[in-house]
Amino acid sequence: MTANPDPHAGPNDPRRRPFLAVAADSHFPIQNLPFGIFSTPADPERRVGVAIGDQVLDLSVIAAAGLLPAEADADIFTQGSLNPFITRGPAVWRAVRAAVSHLLDAETPTLRDDAALRARALVPMADARMHLPVEVGGYTDFYSSRHHAANVGRMFRGADKPLLPNWLHLPVAYNGRASSVVVSGTPITRPQGQTIAPGAEAPCFGPCAKLDFELETAFVVGVGNPLGVPVPVDDAESRIFGVVLLNDWSARDIQQWEYAPLGPFNAKSFGTSISPWVVTLDALEPFRVPGPVQEPEPLPYLRAQGAHAFDVALEVAVRPAGDERTTTVCRSNLRHLYWSMAQQLAHHTVSGCNTRVGDLMASGTISGPEPESFASLLELTWNGRDPLTLAGGVTRTFLEDGDEVTITGWCQGDGYRVGFGGVGGRILPSPPQQG
Ligand code: MN
Repeated sequence: MTANPDPHAGPNDPRRRPFLAVAADSHFPIQNLPFGIFSTPADPERRVGVAIGDQVLDLSVIAAAGLLPAEADADIFTQGSLNPFITRGPAVWRAVRAAVSHLLDAETPTLRDDAALRARALVPMADARMHLPVEVGGYTDFYSSRHHAANVGRMFRGADKPLLPNWLHLPVAYNGRASSVVVSGTPITRPQGQTIAPGAEAPCFGPCAKLDFELETAFVVGVGNPLGVPVPVDDAESRIFGVVLLNDWSARDIQQWEYAPLGPFNAKSFGTSISPWVVTLDALEPFRVPGPVQEPEPLPYLRAQGAHAFDVALEVAVRPAGDERTTTVCRSNLRHLYWSMAQQLAHHTVSGCNTRVGDLMASGTISGPEPESFASLLELTWNGRDPLTLAGGVTRTFLEDGDEVTITGWCQGDGYRVGFGGVGGRILPSPPQQG
């Protein structure tokens, strides 16, 4: 046995236990400690929190009490976004996470035995209102699931060549819309736009009739790169602060008419939902696994040493308006992603494109090989051909008004889960039609 008696072993040590109770299936054990922005009815000021079990640790209180490392000035925890904290760099992220881990440890009396401080610093998650965790300056959506790309190719181009010639050579992406990235719980209004009926010569205008979700994750850039200076693939992970769940809501009928030749526009820009807790790449480290074999071998700037995929179970559930029952419609895993986050960031910057703290880079729809792991309704219903039956017998081809979609994800440790919580959103009807 290599049991390490050191009580100060790292924050990821599976033997660590906090002084407060955390359920075995909680997404927020002491081994996770994700960062978010929250407020409460009693104190509407936005501030930085860390999730622990069913509580939020208020870092503005902990910092003011002098319990965080000196290099993490207290004012970075009283901000409306994580950007000022993230900007301090990886050494500060790690020092703060280690300090919080120590403070919450069952063996540390500082907070455990100070009832007055606990009362101010710990907020029940049920009382916390979560806000967008980062100020997103740029949002990019990749297309890195081979299974998703091949399904879409088979559907629209035929079975013989499901992937376009570039797909196995570069992580395909488009620049998305940052202004409409919203936090979990924000309602999504059904978009209106141009669509064309099969065989019609001219488009018509109206509400989207093929509204879809896309199960994705996204990483938050933690260390930017200057214009003209690419990020080498082997340095890329050191630039990533953390990861969130992302729902890339998609209007398939609008997309199909508008996307050639420059890609999706109105079909994607009406809303992109992310989960409120940013799970650090450090917390995901124990769940690192080799990614899929890449054949043909990528060009040298995309060749990374070592394992760069992460074993994250992912699920999507749908609940119709007024229904108590949710139906899990997709079970997938982040490890299915063909192109890694490191390769995505290296490719994004190889042209000399700069990135900035808070930029969000999404994975693309994370479909797996099995039909139950298809991660959009487009694939699950094969573009509406095969309706899904939900609990209670109602069917869906695409989303209806009032439907609520929730994505969740977690890494399964030995007796604990490092999870992301969830990202949810409900569809509101289109506004009354114009002209
Ligand atoms: Mn997408």
